[in-house]
Amino acid sequence: LDNKYQGLENNVWVEFIDLNAKLQPLNLGQGFPDFMPAESVVRELAKTCDIEANPLLHQYTRGYGHPRLVKALANLYGNLINRGINPMTEVLVTGGAYGSLFCAIMSNVGPGDEVIIIEPYFDCYEPLVRLAGGTPRFISLKPENPTDASSASWALNMEELRSLFNVKTKAIIVNTPNNPLGKVFTRQELTDIGDLCKEFNVIVISDEVYEWLVYEDNVHTRIASLDGMWDRTITIGSAGKTFSLTGWKLGWSYGPAHLMRNLHIAHQNCVYACPTPLQEALGAQLEKEIKRLNTPDSFFYKMVTDLKERRDLMVRSVRDSGMIPVVPEGGYFMMVNWKPLENKADLSEETDAQADYRFVKWFAKTHKLLGIPPSAFYSNDHKHLAEDYLRLCFYKKTETLQKADEILKHLK
Ligand code: PMP
Ligand code: GLN
Repeated sequence: LDNKYQGLENNVWVEFIDLNAKLQPLNLGQGFPDFMPAESVVRELAKTCDIEANPLLHQYTRGYGHPRLVKALANLYGNLINRGINPMTEVLVTGGAYGSLFCAIMSNVGPGDEVIIIEPYFDCYEPLVRLAGGTPRFISLKPENPTDASSASWALNMEELRSLFNVKTKAIIVNTPNNPLGKVFTRQELTDIGDLCKEFNVIVISDEVYEWLVYEDNVHTRIASLDGMWDRTITIGSAGKTFSLTGWKLGWSYGPAHLMRNLHIAHQNCVYACPTPLQEALGAQLEKEIKRLNTPDSFFYKMVTDLKERRDLMVRSVRDSGMIPVVPEGGYFMMVNWKPLENKADLSEETDAQADYRFVKWFAKTHKLLGIPPSAFYSNDHKHLAEDYLRLCFYKKTETLQKADEILKHLK
C-alpha cells in the first residue's frame, strides 16, 4: 500500500455494504430510499433519450457544469441567499457531493494547513484532509442534557472551538443538517462559527446535502448567506439527496469566484465533465421547482412532510424496543442509544475494537436488522464517544419500517 494511504484503508461503507450483501438483513444502514420518491425527475431523464430531438445531450458538455443546470443552480441559490450568483464562475457540478468535497479540500488545503472538523462528521472528510497533506483538528458535539431526546441538545462548546483556531487554520468543515446526528445548526451557532472564521481568516466548507430535510420549526440556515460569509464559504449540495436519487451521483458546489476557481482546476484535471443527460434532466426539474418553491406542490415540501412521518414511526419503534432515540431535527438518519439492551446482546463473537461495531454486527446477525456504527464518524481519539450508539436510516418504504417495527418491539 502506498505510504499516503497508510491508515486510510478501512471504509465503513465498503464494510457494511458487503455485510448487507452477505447477511441480507433488513437494511437500515447506508442512506438511500428503497422506493422511488421522484418520478418526475426520472421522466425528465427519459426525455433526454429522444435521440432525434436531443442528439447532443449524449455527448460531452461544458466541464464545470452543463449550462442549463448551472443556470438553474445559480438561480435557485441566488434566490435563497439573496445575491446574484454567476453560473459560469461561481458554480461547479461534480460527481456527487463527494466530488465537490474532493475538489474543495484538495484545492484549498495543503501541507501545514489545519482543518477543523466537527464530530460526528461524514467519514470522508478526515481522509480527504490527510490526503491533501493537511492536519485535521477535531471537536465533538456533546449532548448538553442527556435526558433531552433531541439532536438539538448536542452542542458545540464555543470556547473549545476558539481554542482550535490559530494561524495554521485554513478551513472548517460544517455539515448541517448533520449526518449522522440530524442536528440542524442554529443561526446563532453558525454566526458564532462564522465570526471565528472572519477573525482568523478561515474558509468554510459547508456540506448542506440535507438542506431540504428539516423538520418542525427548525430552519436550515445557509452559512454563505450570513453577513460577510459569502467571500469565504464553499457550499456543497447533492442531487442524490435533493431528489432522493443517490445513484445519480451528481453534486455541486457554489461560492465566490476566487475560491471556486481552485475547485474548477481540481475538477478539470480529474473527471473534467459530468454526465450530460443527468445534468439536463436535473436542470429541467430544478427550473420547475424554482417556480413552486415554498408551495405545497414543491417536491421538497412533499419529501420533508413524508419523511417526518417516517421519522416519527421510527422513533416509536425504537422507544418500543427499549433503546433511546436521539430524535433528529433534520436529515434521514437517527442515532439510537443501544445501552438499554446491553444485557441481551452477546458481543463476545465479534472482534472489533469499538463496541458499536460489535453491537451492529451482532444485531444484523441475530435480529436481521442492519444499522451503521457511528464511531466511523469520529476520529481515533474520540471514537469512544459513539460506542453506545448505532445509526438507523428511516428513508424506507412503510413496509420496511413496519418490518423494522416488528423486530424492534420484540427486543424488550
Ligand atoms: N455529505 C454528506 C453529509 C452525506 O451524507 C453524503 C451522502 N453520501 C455525501 C456528502 C455524499 O453525497 P453524494 O452521494 O452526492 O456524493
Ligand atoms: N451518505 C450516505 C450515508 O451516510 C451514503 C454514504 C456512502 O455510500 N458512501 O449513508
